[in-house]
Amino acid sequence: MHPLSAQDILRIWEQGQTQHPVDRALSVLAASMAMPREALAALSLGQRDAHLLTLRELTFGTALKGFTECSRCGERLEYALDTASIRVPCRQEQTEFELEAAGFELRFRLPDSGDLVAITGCPDPASARRLLVQRCVLTAHYHETAVAPGDLPDEAVARLAAHIEEADPQAEVRFAFKCPACGHRWQGLFDIAAFFWAEITAQAKRLLREVHTLARVYNWRELDILAMSATRRQCYLEMVS
Ligand SMILES: [Zn+2]
Repeated sequence: MHPLSAQDILRIWEQGQTQHPVDRALSVLAASMAMPREALAALSLGQRDAHLLTLRELTFGTALKGFTECSRCGERLEYALDTASIRVPCRQEQTEFELEAAGFELRFRLPDSGDLVAITGCPDPASARRLLVQRCVLTAHYHETAVAPGDLPDEAVARLAAHIEEADPQAEVRFAFKCPACGHRWQGLFDIAAFFWAEITAQAKRLLREVHTLARVYNWRELDILAMSATRRQCYLEMVS
């Protein structure tokens, strides 16, 4: 894995304009990792997010700054944290798991990017959870009789969904907020894929402005301007401003 270069950032951002957010996350990883796209798509969501976090550290550093809004009073809350505080220690690279839920013996895998795309068409969270479970259950037995994953009762589906979350903790990073204005407390989800994409978008637009300024003054090509180190580009920008 290598940090995203200025050229990488512009290329990914341009491609991403017509991509689903799940595909954008894969494009970001594909630009930096020597791994076929299908293999990246088959990573569990927690493994995907762990790689995105590492790439974000390499590209923009470990400090994360963002903001959220209080759902009760609308107050804007800024937060600053370090990537280390949201990284879950890596567990064994297991791909198949077993669970006994409501009398059913289940063998299952963890959800990946393909599953995430598949559930986007679901009308509500309950049907999304059911579809996810159907896709991820490899075999199900009740007293040694095979059962179709679609026929599992709600209780077994709920147990399995909770177990999947536990088995892939990096996929669901939550942290506690407290609103300083009204005292409201809640748990927020941190989505590294969306966070990193917003940063890539901002950086792409900044780079285009820099290219525009320097190309207009010096007549340099976009390729040459982007190939410079950020430090050198900033020096030229200071001289022309
Ligand atoms: Zn509030």
